[in-house]
Amino acid sequence: MAKPDGREKLVTNQETEEDLILNISLRPSKLEDFIGQKDVVENLKVSLQAAGKRNEPMEHTLLSGPPGLGKTSLAHIIAHEMGTKITATSGPAIERAGDLIGILTNLAEGDILFIDEIHRLSKTVEEFIYPAMESFEIDFVIDKGPYAKTIKFNLKRFTLIGATTRAGLLTAPLRSRFGIFYYLDFYEAEDLVKIITRSAKILNIHVDKDAASEIARRSRGSPRVANRLLRRVRDWVQVKRDGRITLDATEEALKSHGIDKMGLDNVDRKVINVIHESFGGGPVGIESIAATLNEEPDTIVDIVEPFLLKIGFLKRTPRGRELTRQAYEHMGFSRNPKEMQGEMF
Ligand code: ADP
Repeated sequence: MAKPDGREKLVTNQETEEDLILNISLRPSKLEDFIGQKDVVENLKVSLQAAGKRNEPMEHTLLSGPPGLGKTSLAHIIAHEMGTKITATSGPAIERAGDLIGILTNLAEGDILFIDEIHRLSKTVEEFIYPAMESFEIDFVIDKGPYAKTIKFNLKRFTLIGATTRAGLLTAPLRSRFGIFYYLDFYEAEDLVKIITRSAKILNIHVDKDAASEIARRSRGSPRVANRLLRRVRDWVQVKRDGRITLDATEEALKSHGIDKMGLDNVDRKVINVIHESFGGGPVGIESIAATLNEEPDTIVDIVEPFLLKIGFLKRTPRGRELTRQAYEHMGFSRNPKEMQGEMF
């Protein structure tokens, strides 16, 4: 999604329109093309084989983890491997329970219903889904008041795949109706190198090995960001150089886009700056950071915070988020006076 103010955020983990078009060709469609996430892939293979042997649809599956790590891709891969059809929607898109009736009644035996951002389903829609997940039936009410009648409708046995960046926000009743849970974690740089190399091949771009490693290092553990940085560097070398992606061209291109050695962009640095300058290094609540920056708290919680936590620039405390010594060093700030005090005792 493009940002409302039209500013493109290079390191955003959200889908831009360009992503949507290009990702269709870059998105792995078979399990063997899905790079990294070894444990998830191994467990998934077992679940797929077991379901195949029993000749049954796979159990309802919940995929969680930060945005851009492959949840949607995995849902499509599962459909491909099962040889079934996938219908994709998202929590906020389903406004009323009625919106789901058509979708659910059109599912054939073994089909996949993919609901992205499933933590954002409304309560009524969520309650409507429970019997569909549990016993493959739905109740719908026709007419109102004294003439209201409930009609039961049997559904075909389908698999619901839910994706969420915030598994913790799922209600207990919804969570308990999933049989399989996979958590996708940030990718190692070596897996991102493989992803970049694969994408470069598909897009017909030449990338030197050390350039691919540099892009991987700055992709904050996310294949979506890796693919986006690759495209930005490609644009740069096509305009300013001979079209080949070399290490020094990569460094210059990423610098011109404000991406630093750790993969932080302007928004990440703004968040760090605000915690440092306005809140004395923290602890401070996300709401206050978001209000000071005029950003949505969700953007900070979903996109900025997980990576800063992962690289140890931020830590969570009961009283809020706090900058760490690594963040101070990286940003070239003088040391946090509070932390230095702590060290004296
Ligand atoms: P999510 O649903 O978690 O936000 P997506 O499945 O949309 O993430 O992945 C974003 C993009 O990153 C995909 O279109 C694909 O190009 C790439 N991608 C994600 N995971 C992988 C992977 N394991 N191997 C190769 N490419 C991947």
